[in-house]
Amino acid sequence: EPLLNIQNLSVSVDDNEILHDLNLKVGRGETHVLMGPNGAGKSTLGNALMGNPQYKITSGTVIFNGKNILEESVCDRAKEGLFMSFQNPIEVPGVSLSNFIRTALEQRTGKRIRLWDFKKEIDQKLKVLDMDPSYADRDLNVGFSGGEKKKAEILQMLMLKPSLAILDETDSGLDVDAVRTVSNGVKEYQKDKDGALLIITHSTRILEALHVDATHVLVNGHIVEDGGAELVDEINERGFERFEEK
Ligand code: ADP
Ligand code: MG
Ligand code: MG
Repeated sequence: EPLLNIQNLSVSVDDNEILHDLNLKVGRGETHVLMGPNGAGKSTLGNALMGNPQYKITSGTVIFNGKNILEESVCDRAKEGLFMSFQNPIEVPGVSLSNFIRTALEQRTGKRIRLWDFKKEIDQKLKVLDMDPSYADRDLNVGFSGGEKKKAEILQMLMLKPSLAILDETDSGLDVDAVRTVSNGVKEYQKDKDGALLIITHSTRILEALHVDATHVLVNGHIVEDGGAELVDEINERGFERFEEK
């Protein structure tokens, strides 16, 4: 049984159907890419999976880890191992990045985490992300640059070790060096064979150095094609034109 099994999912926002009868399966530890032009419904899928109440499920089922998660709260979905990084991470004054992650981890595992072990691990991950250790003590995202906010999202993913991480345009708006660093972070996550990924992107830069198991093309709320890593190369060369005609 796949880790994530989306069947005949339709999602509406304000009574407008955005996703139509969508089917998608992600196996344990697999890396899937979801590509499509702006407005196709990529973020809508991520939001619907996480349980954002603005997105109404009008039909279909989503089985994650053997459970029908559509009936679960956002919090329970996260505890179940679902993670999503945001396109525009919010600033949280008064909560340090380090405390935020440690609290989330303790919530998720239900166990106290020894400070020494935690510190050792977060320092190692900060190093992978080319971030100074002092970032751990700064308030979450407050005064962070666009690139630093994205790196902080990847840091959360690396520390929380979800069973499925949805990265929503984590590469957008980043310069070449920041894309490489974020990509290194994703590669670090891929080393741990248990973690699956759904990478939402409309550019292919972040994928260049990553292993990809499957690619799905979303146009106007429909998945119009499923394929392998070769689809990424095709879209890179020719864009979405062929798919938009479908
Ligand atoms: P993508 O991420 O592929 O660019 P989105 O999922 O953000 O696409 O948007 C798909 C469509 O759904 C767009 O027409 C967008 O305007 C609409 N939409 C998405 N989220 C909302 C929302 N919270 N409120 C109103 N419309 C929304
Ligand atoms: Mg978009
Ligand atoms: Mg989007």
